Amino acid sequence: MPEYAKALSKIFGTALDASFDGVVITDNNQPDNPIIYCNQAFCDITGYSMDEIVGHNCRFLQANDRNQKVRKTIAAAVKEGKSCQVDIRNYKKDGSLFWNELSISPVHDENGNITHFIGIQNDISRRKQAEHNLNLERENLEKRVNERTKELQEHEQFLKGIVETIRESLIVLDPELNIALVNRHFEKFFKVNSNELVDHKLTDVLEGSWDIPELINLLRNVLPEHNPFEDFEVVHDFPYIGNRRLMLNASQITVGETYQNWILLAMEDVTERYVIEKKKDDFIAIASHEMKTPITVVKGNLQLLERMLNKGETDGYQPRLKQATDSLENLSRLIANLLDTSMLTSGSTRRSSEVVSIAEIVNITLGEVSEVYSDHDFVLYGNSDLNVVGDRSQLSQVITNLLTNAAKYSKDTKQVILHIGRVGNFAKISVTDTGIGIAKENHKRIFDRFYRVSANDNNYFGAGIGLYISQQIISDHGGTIWVESEIGQGSVFSITIPLSL
Ligand code: ADP
Repeated sequence: MPEYAKALSKIFGTALDASFDGVVITDNNQPDNPIIYCNQAFCDITGYSMDEIVGHNCRFLQANDRNQKVRKTIAAAVKEGKSCQVDIRNYKKDGSLFWNELSISPVHDENGNITHFIGIQNDISRRKQAEHNLNLERENLEKRVNERTKELQEHEQFLKGIVETIRESLIVLDPELNIALVNRHFEKFFKVNSNELVDHKLTDVLEGSWDIPELINLLRNVLPEHNPFEDFEVVHDFPYIGNRRLMLNASQITVGETYQNWILLAMEDVTERYVIEKKKDDFIAIASHEMKTPITVVKGNLQLLERMLNKGETDGYQPRLKQATDSLENLSRLIANLLDTSMLTSGSTRRSSEVVSIAEIVNITLGEVSEVYSDHDFVLYGNSDLNVVGDRSQLSQVITNLLTNAAKYSKDTKQVILHIGRVGNFAKISVTDTGIGIAKENHKRIFDRFYRVSANDNNYFGAGIGLYISQQIISDHGGTIWVESEIGQGSVFSITIPLSL
C-alpha cells in the first residue's frame, strides 16, 4: 500500500473510532457476508470486543429473536444490492435488548459489483422506550377521555331524562332571550315542535304570544336582582290552546364560561285549579246563602206559632206550619244535593245495582213532590211496566230533582206532565212544565255544577247542583239527560236509562 494510502486509512480509522455511531463493514465476496471491521462505538453498543465480532455474520446480534419482519427487509436489500434503513431488536453480549437503528449501504467496485456492505447503527432504545411510553400514555389518555365522555354523555342523558319527565313546561333562554331548549311537556302543552322555537327569540315565537311586557321586564330587569323568581302569574290567550293561566318560576343560572346568566323558566298550568278553586268558593257562598232562606222561613214561622200558642190563638196556624215544613223540605233536599256533590266530586259514591221498577219509583217520588207542591197539577202518562238496573235512591233523586224544578219554575202555570215510555232498549222519562222556560244558550250550561240562569237567581230557591247531580247519576247508569225548552214556553227534561232485559 502506498504511503499516502496508509496515512489516509489511518485517518479514516481514527475518524471511525471517534464516531458515536456504531459502524460495521461486511465482506460480500466471502461466504455468509462476515463482518471484517467494526469501530469502537459498535463494541460499546453491543458489549462485544472487536475480536468477538469480526468474522461473524451480523445476525448473531438478533440472538434467538429471529422472527422479526425487518429481517426480511434487510435480506431483500442485501440480495438486490440496495440501501435500507430499519429499526431492529438486537441483543448485547449480556443478553439485554437494545433497539438498533440500522442503515445498510452497499459498496461497489469499478465494475459495479458489490464488494462490501457498510452498516451504521445507533442504540435508540431510549427513544423507543420514550415512544413506547408516549404511546402508552396516549392510549391511557384516550381511554380516560373516552370514559369521561361516556360518563358525561350518561350524565347528560340522565339530566335530559329528568327534564323530559317533569310534568311542567320548561324553557331555557340565553341572556338575549333566545330559546335554547324546550322540554317535551312544553311541546305537548303548547302544541308546537321545538324546531319552531329553538334559536328564535322568545318574543317572536308562537305568533308573538310570549311578548308580554311584564314578563319581559321580569326576565330582563327583575330577575337579575331577585334570583330566583317564583309564582309570577300570566293569564294569556295562546295560539292553539286558548286562554290559560300559568304560574311561572324563573331562575338565572351561570355554569362555567359558556352559560353566563342563562334563564330557566318553568311554567305550571293552573287554569283548571283556578276554576276549581273559584267553584269551591262559589259553592260555599251559594250553599250558605241558599241555606239562610229556608232557615229564616222556618224560624219566623215557628216564632209566630209560639206567640200564637201563648196567646191561645188557634186560627191560621195551618199555613204557618206548612210553610215551615216546606222550607225544611227544601233545606233537606239542598243538604242532600250538597252532600251528593261533594261525594261525586271526590268519587266516593257507591251505587247499588238492583232491578228497579220505573213505575214504582215514579209513583213514590210523584207522591212526595206533589205533597210539597200541592197547588200544582201533576199528570202521569204511560205508566208501563219497565225495569232498569241501578241504584233505586239515586234514580229517585233524579226524578225528584226534575219534578221539583218543573214545579218550582212554573209558579204561575202550575202544570207538570210526566211521561214514561220505552224507546228501543231504554226507558224514557220526560218531565214537561209550562213554566218560564230556558234560553237556548243555557241548555248545556244548566247541567254544570253551580250554574243557575242568572235572571232567576233571586226569585227561585236553589244552588245550581240538582241537574249536575242528575246528569252524573244518569251517565253513571249508562243513560242520557237533556232539555228542550224555549223562554216563556216551558221546558221538557228527558232521561233515558238502559232497560234490564
Ligand atoms: P237549582 O237548584 O238552581 O234549580 P238545578 O241544577 O236543578 O239547580 O238547575 C240549574 C238551573 O237550570 C236553575 O237554576 C234554573 O235556572 C234552570 N232550570 C232547571 N230546571 C228548570 C225548569 N224546569 N224550568 C226553567 N229553568 C230550569
